[in-house]
Amino acid sequence: MEGKADVIIVGGGIVGLCCAYYVALRGASVTILDKGAMDSGASHVNAGFLVPSHIEPMAAPGVIAQGLKWLSDPESPFYIKPRFDLDLTTWLWGFKAACTRENVTRAVPILRDLALASLDLYDEISALPGFENAGPAQNGLLMLHDSDDGKRHNLELADVATAADLDARILSRDETLDLEPGIKSALTGSVFFSQDASLDPGYFVTRLQEKVLSMGVRFARHTEVIGFRRAGRSVTHVQTDSEDFRADHVVIAAGSWSGRLAKKLGVKIPLQPATGYSVTVDDPKRSMRIPIILTEKKITIGPMRGKIRFAGTLTLVGFDTKIDPVRLRPIHRQIEMYFEDIKSGSQPMPEAQSGFRPCSTDGLPIIGRLDGAEAGPSNVLIATGHGMLGFTQGPITGKTIADMITGSSTPFDLHEISPARFF
Ligand SMILES: Cc1cc2nc3c(=O)[nH]c(=O)nc-3n(C[C@H](O)[C@H](O)[C@H](O)COP(=O)(O)OP(=O)(O)OC[C@H]3O[C@@H](n4cnc5c(N)ncnc54)[C@H](O)[C@@H]3O)c2cc1C
Repeated sequence: MEGKADVIIVGGGIVGLCCAYYVALRGASVTILDKGAMDSGASHVNAGFLVPSHIEPMAAPGVIAQGLKWLSDPESPFYIKPRFDLDLTTWLWGFKAACTRENVTRAVPILRDLALASLDLYDEISALPGFENAGPAQNGLLMLHDSDDGKRHNLELADVATAADLDARILSRDETLDLEPGIKSALTGSVFFSQDASLDPGYFVTRLQEKVLSMGVRFARHTEVIGFRRAGRSVTHVQTDSEDFRADHVVIAAGSWSGRLAKKLGVKIPLQPATGYSVTVDDPKRSMRIPIILTEKKITIGPMRGKIRFAGTLTLVGFDTKIDPVRLRPIHRQIEMYFEDIKSGSQPMPEAQSGFRPCSTDGLPIIGRLDGAEAGPSNVLIATGHGMLGFTQGPITGKTIADMITGSSTPFDLHEISPARFF
């Protein structure tokens, strides 16, 4: 039997679901195809921070030197598994080339505008029936430091944020603890970003699934896209491991796997999965209000509807879901600082979960049509490359894709985020 839809979305993570929501809102018929159950992976295990403060792209001066230092430390937050992989080599080359001041200058206003626009959309969506207690808590974000290097890094971030008209306040240790007495991590001071927010990502995604289902969006779970059928420059059918789905428009929102799917269409998109871990602990006392980031350790600690989620690590190990116990240790140490019963062994340490951040080479998302590429089809769009900011940028990505499909104007310079920058 052949499925039928106006718009086929490949991938049911936060990005695919947001695309489905905004496209369905314009009256199109939408089907989401996902190879999994849509209940795990990056969009469920992430820290849930919605962060206009994160306006510096991952590709920035100094990042490579820091990364090289970390490579020899098995407990560091960063690792690349040495292997012969042409895609990884090409990606690293592109990343190195993008680690420039010009790239940062170009990216800052784009990342800021995407994040702020997305936060407004989160507020709109969360006001809908069915999203009770799912929306963002606007409690800001504390970037803690406990060394001179960390302090210098945070003060620079504060300068960049202030120059971009964002609110960044430099706080002493006491001022930080007055604002968030629940902090147990080491610190000498912090920078507070008041416009940041956070939510429980798994809970929000589940509510969004229910919402789009109620709008008539169809889900084909456990349905892996394995290819595309074309007629001339158009894709007519999306081929899966069970059946073919007819398509007027196709959106590839398959997270870290999006590059592989684009390749099946003859289009090269530089993308690497960057693995991250999270561990979530029940906190019935709700002992924290404000999310924090440990600047030196690159660990996030975020209150989440009666739980605290600890997250971190960024490893380029391919699509390997195994969790490295040594690299998890710094996260476990933080958990033991916050939960005495886990430290003493009277409560078990909860299991870690992992997810893949879809990382572009220049730290900007990749949103747009593939038709500019030599072999590019005329009716396929891609929405990926969000890296560490996919949850933050989900709604604005979905709305932008809907604008593109319906030919509506968008408030953004689409050129800067277009896949065409790689063709
Ligand atoms: C530990 C961790 C912490 C993070 N913290 C934050 C944070 O605080 N704030 C933030 O903004 N971002 C954060 N991120 C990043 C964010 O989670 C990701 O950028 C985002 O979830 C990516 O969403 P996505 O929908 O593009 O991809 P995914 O969530 O990976 O979804 C892609 C979907 O596509 C499906 N798929 C793939 N290939 C196929 C195929 N061939 N056929 C059918 N289906 C397919 C997959 O099954 C999957 O369900 C974090 C990530 C991690 C791992």
